[in-house]
Amino acid sequence: MASTRVTDSSWAPPGAAAAGVPLQPGRWRTARAAADVPPPAAVPVEVAVPAGVPVLWRWDAVSGRVDHSARVPEALGLLPGTELSLVAVRRLVHPDDLERFDDLVLGLVTRRIAVQGTIRFAAPDGVRTVHAWAGIRVEEGRVAGAFGGLLDVTGFGPELEALHGSLVALRAAEELTGLGLWEWDPASGELLWTAPMYSLVGVAPGAVQPTLARWHEAVHPADRERALNLDVGALDRSGGHVETLRVVGADGVVRYVRCWSTAVGGPGGVQVHGAAVEVSRQVRDQARLEWMSATDVLTGLLNRHGLEQRLRHQLATAARADGDVVLVLLDLDRFKAVNDTLGHHVGDALLVEVSRRLARVVPQGSVIARMGGDEFAVLPPPGPDGAQLGPLGQAVVEALRAPYALSGAPELVACPVSAGVTSRRGRGVGAHELLAEADLALYQAKDTGRGRYVIFDDGLLARARARHLAERLLRSALDGDRLALWYQPIIDLPTGRRVGAEALVRLRDLPGLGGRPAAGGDGVPGERLLLPEAFIDVAEDTGLVVELDCWVIDHALEQLSRWSRRRGPAVTAGVRIPDPPWLAVNVSARTMQQPGVVRRILDGLARHRIPPRLLKLELTERSFLGADPAGESALRQLIGSGVPVGIDDFGTGYSALAYLQRFELDFMKIDRSFVASVGEQGRADAVVTAIVDLAHAHGMRVTAEGIEHAHQADRLREIGCDLAQGYHFGRPTPGWT
Ligand code: C2E
Ligand code: MG
Ligand code: MG
Repeated sequence: MASTRVTDSSWAPPGAAAAGVPLQPGRWRTARAAADVPPPAAVPVEVAVPAGVPVLWRWDAVSGRVDHSARVPEALGLLPGTELSLVAVRRLVHPDDLERFDDLVLGLVTRRIAVQGTIRFAAPDGVRTVHAWAGIRVEEGRVAGAFGGLLDVTGFGPELEALHGSLVALRAAEELTGLGLWEWDPASGELLWTAPMYSLVGVAPGAVQPTLARWHEAVHPADRERALNLDVGALDRSGGHVETLRVVGADGVVRYVRCWSTAVGGPGGVQVHGAAVEVSRQVRDQARLEWMSATDVLTGLLNRHGLEQRLRHQLATAARADGDVVLVLLDLDRFKAVNDTLGHHVGDALLVEVSRRLARVVPQGSVIARMGGDEFAVLPPPGPDGAQLGPLGQAVVEALRAPYALSGAPELVACPVSAGVTSRRGRGVGAHELLAEADLALYQAKDTGRGRYVIFDDGLLARARARHLAERLLRSALDGDRLALWYQPIIDLPTGRRVGAEALVRLRDLPGLGGRPAAGGDGVPGERLLLPEAFIDVAEDTGLVVELDCWVIDHALEQLSRWSRRRGPAVTAGVRIPDPPWLAVNVSARTMQQPGVVRRILDGLARHRIPPRLLKLELTERSFLGADPAGESALRQLIGSGVPVGIDDFGTGYSALAYLQRFELDFMKIDRSFVASVGEQGRADAVVTAIVDLAHAHGMRVTAEGIEHAHQADRLREIGCDLAQGYHFGRPTPGWT
């Protein structure tokens, strides 16, 4: 089947009879109320039809005139130019189809419904089968005319069904969607519209004579160029062309109209035709959806999605204009505390107030967004002055530093902010990279004291990559059981005897994972061992330290068990031997906060039959300060069960000594930074002496760590240190030597 356009705009004015409505029965289909059917001005229809060419007719009730395509008589098997009237046509109807023909005419005129069907005509040259359809035009309750089309389908068998289907589907589409059809003849310039086309330009069907100029005039000036392209595009592209245009109606309504156009070549030249339908609701729904998906409801600012869209847009336009795109990410430093202590309504009020303050301080034309939670972003308009990153970061941080008066809060609420700033500055980076860079800088600002801004630089990226690598290494080492414990001896300073050791974790790196063995220290040549400095911070940040510490505790207990067994026979032989060495393990505050950690340790000790005093726990000062109630109670339970707990790295900046009173601690390790200067006539001796006195006053023993020289050991012994650890006595090794 060929696709044929079924339009005939060459209305020949024959003197047809008033009710010249040649229609047929067959499969009668009621389409819809006649008042709604397209007017006879033009009925362009596009369907997939057999080679036959449909012809059109129309009747005007006022003038009584019938216009029809010159080929209408031909379609009925009559000589061209034969005058047509309802009576003349009825006379040709096959006797068997007469009743259906009359029904059809009656349906159209009295019931005012659109009709269609297939009817046989007894034409002079034989029987013709014609598919006919018709609609009625009603104005102010009166029949104003009728119109219709005919298609000679003589000789068509099963295809006839398909044709019916196409015609019905097309009519239904028109009715259900308000789809308007149009057709333009580039040669004559004639434009034909169906009724819905008139509605799209805000006039009554048939009220104006459609012309291309009138259509273009109705299209919104901003969309006019695209409308022109649409017509040309249709001619250029055989596949057709689609655009959504704004059309300003004569009724003052602006409608969004989706327009299709396509060009079809034929014997009479190219015809451009298409369809149009109003999509205002869909466009507005879509716009609303987009607005909602890009907006933060609480503050009315853009949300993360919205900011990313704007950022991408800025990057694209700035690249053309050679402007500088700057991005600031902000995070409130105390938002959680405000929320937790004053309630969410105060938290919400704070977020709104932050958005207002930001609006006052950022450069005019900036985009402000709430990225979620307590994170905000500022995107100043791109420009040559984008290099002013420092002042911008400073202004933002300063503006948010002053406390807020918030309804619902009993007093002023302080909630400073940290900021990360970055800029594209001549680089070809994308939105996600810029966001990641600003995020890194923000993270750095948080990490280095908060309440400040940091400008992104490549060093930050390198550090972030190293951390990422470390995390990957650590996860894979935990999964693949590639951790190792090394032991560094601890000496009883007065006697010089080895009494214990500290267990220090190592990570066995696999070639290809990308880890680099830490320089210096105590690694064994040839082995790719990573020292804790390469991964312990990451372990803390990610919480992996809990798993790591548990692994260390379990292995330390096994080691202790082996040492105890080794010394076992000497005891049974009645020989007095020194105590088996004890083992100190480092544990993070996060580990102590884990439910079940006390059970794990005590059960392990019991299972291996190890006296609790042989497993010592080292916590840094920072850990003591950060211990939450769960961690504190775990420490108390362990101390109560006889597990010695001590402070590591004592003196490294945390001077809150309250924990000395709160816990019955076993030992204190003086940080090696003090030990390094001992015996050099400085203040170090005095400080160490004070620490030793303080510890002894609390019943604690004192370990000096990091002793590298004999003179340090001598001086520390004089000062009264109890225990010693350092390269001078022995480096960490994989086993107890
Ligand atoms: P730390 O507990 O203060 O351990 C002592 C660190 O000083 C060890 O470094 C040790 O090798 C090093 N050291 C010992 N003697 C000397 C010396 O004479 N001179 C110098 N320059 N250094 C000496 P390492 O093994 O790299 O451990 C570093 C830190 O990693 C430890 O400090 C500890 O805080 C942490 N750590 C080690 N193992 C674990 C663990 O299993 N769990 C947890 N949570 N942290 C661990
Ligand atoms: Mg330690
Ligand atoms: Mg230490």
